[in-house]
Amino acid sequence: MDVRGQVGIITGATRGIGKAIAEGLAKNGVNLAIAGRNIDAAKEVAAAFTVFGVKAVGIKLDVSKPEDVIKAFEDVEKEFNRIDILINNAGITKDGLLIRMRDEDWDSVIDTNLKGVFLCTREAVKVMSRQRYGRIINITSVAAFMGNPGQTNYSASKAGIVGLTKTVAREYAVRGITVNAVAPGFIQTAMTDVLSDRVKEDMKKIIPLGRFGTAEDVANAVIFLALPDSGYITGQVIHVNGGMYM
Ligand code: NDP
Repeated sequence: MDVRGQVGIITGATRGIGKAIAEGLAKNGVNLAIAGRNIDAAKEVAAAFTVFGVKAVGIKLDVSKPEDVIKAFEDVEKEFNRIDILINNAGITKDGLLIRMRDEDWDSVIDTNLKGVFLCTREAVKVMSRQRYGRIINITSVAAFMGNPGQTNYSASKAGIVGLTKTVAREYAVRGITVNAVAPGFIQTAMTDVLSDRVKEDMKKIIPLGRFGTAEDVANAVIFLALPDSGYITGQVIHVNGGMYM
């Protein structure tokens, strides 16, 4: 199950679920590129993980910008000589009921959540194909499966990730690259902190395990899929949602 010495890149790793995934990988000995739009925050997170004895660097990356993505992957390959693990985690919400949803709120959510996954995956498979090894894990959402009022853009972007995951899994299996998705339910992070107490209480009522998830709950599933021994799992979605969707 050893991932020590491997190299992972995590997008949107400056806080929340991405940061918890990065910490879990660092504890398992994975060298890391911590990617985020805010380079100072990315460097700060990277510096904190060196206590686990790994090499970790912060890199500036807006996943919705093709030029940023190309440069970031070039820089990571130069720095570490390989890329074993890509976690496509960066994501945003711009909620609003369909009738009031502005074009720019649709576009920015699709560009970050779905096009960002496409751009990063396209760069990563170039490196992973040469290595004949790779683990790609995409963070989708329970909203892709259940829908959620006010999240036409978000649920469409996350459902798109599921289709992308299965197609890339089929295209790259022959190169030793597995591609899977993790679908969190309601997880306590900055993304959900903004919701009203009423919405949170309503959500909790539909979670059989009776609590919101933590970023670590999601990280545990992601790390499992990132292990070399998970190599016979590809094109799958693991749901981490306390049973709210089954
Ligand atoms: P947070 O808002 O806490 O963190 C999101 C991270 O993504 C931040 O580091 C943010 O950094 C980064 N980010 C946002 N836009 C970009 C971009 N264009 N390029 C690079 N980085 C970006 O959210 P969570 O940790 O809660 O969410 C992480 C993932 O999990 C997302 O994909 C989300 O959709 C998904 N998810 C979350 C759930 C939840 O309940 N929390 C449920 C289901 C799925 P910055 O803004 O500083 O650039």
